Amino acid sequence: KENGRNMLWLFNENDVAVKERRRDIYWVPLIKKALLEKELFLVYQPVVALSSGEISHYEALIRMKGEDDVVISPNQFIPAAERMGLIHSIDLWVVETAIDFLAGLPADMSHVSLAINLSSTAFQETKLLQTIRDKLELTWVDAKRLTFEITETAAFQNYEKARDMIIKIRALGCKFALDDFGAGFCSFNYLKSFPVDYVKIDGQFIQNLNNDETDQVLVKSMAEIAARLGKKTIAEFVETPTTIKKLKEYGIDFGQGYIFGKPEINLLQSNSMSIMNLMQPPPTQGPGMAE
Ligand code: C2E
Ligand code: MG
Ligand code: MG
Ligand code: MG
Repeated sequence: KENGRNMLWLFNENDVAVKERRRDIYWVPLIKKALLEKELFLVYQPVVALSSGEISHYEALIRMKGEDDVVISPNQFIPAAERMGLIHSIDLWVVETAIDFLAGLPADMSHVSLAINLSSTAFQETKLLQTIRDKLELTWVDAKRLTFEITETAAFQNYEKARDMIIKIRALGCKFALDDFGAGFCSFNYLKSFPVDYVKIDGQFIQNLNNDETDQVLVKSMAEIAARLGKKTIAEFVETPTTIKKLKEYGIDFGQGYIFGKPEINLLQSNSMSIMNLMQPPPTQGPGMAE
């Protein structure tokens, strides 16, 4: 009926929308169960300052426990949760769990800070701001230790609300990062309109940086623009020492990727000594090889 009168729509089993809908429905009870039975958990991946090799903070990434200890990736259930109206519960769970995690760290780790991902509709959640404020107050966690990552497409759907919420959450002392920068359609618009502290350049531009000259030009330009606008830059999907070298050349501030550490349950698993070693330029010439 939505497509007008006297129209007949034929759906067949292969219809993408039908398949997607069926997949979404499949996830609903699993997500509800995961929320109730504590089958969701966070893993933490280091973000490293490229100038010093020191860990700046960690990004918290959600996982779901499946049957037989299988770990389910967010790409599988987050889009379904967004479409099926379950994402707000997940957003609130992530906020509370991340702040509890910070509160529970030993005193000698009170400098550790986290970045967490908000869904594309988080800004419509009226309880979000209050939950953040209450939880920070209750746990005494310094708001500075929390950064929220939002994607470009996310905030644009609800521009006014998003902007308003970002300003209010930043007023608490938290920071914001624009995630997956360059992957959407309105990147530069965003930089202009949203008061964010970090720009995270999408991994698709970083992964082949060593070989792809177009990516080199794009990443260099994004770094320059972000820096001129007073934003710190983070590159995702840093996987090789050559990439690290290029990113430093371009003036990118931070790197995140498998070369520094995979997302882990335990922070201490990402060894900062080995990260330090990575930051040393690889020996190109041995003694006696000069000239
Ligand atoms: P994202 O926020 O852009 O996170 C970066 C993704 O890249 C993570 O995938 C991470 O594991 C992966 N990654 C990190 N380093 C490398 C690397 O060197 N190479 C490659 N190939 N990949 C790397 P993950 O954990 O599967 O998360 C996927 C997406 O799911 C995230 O993208 C984010 O959009 C969403 N997500 C994750 N956790 C949450 C959450 O707590 N809430 C919400 N709403 N979304 C989340
Ligand atoms: Mg992220
Ligand atoms: Mg990202
Ligand atoms: Mg991404």
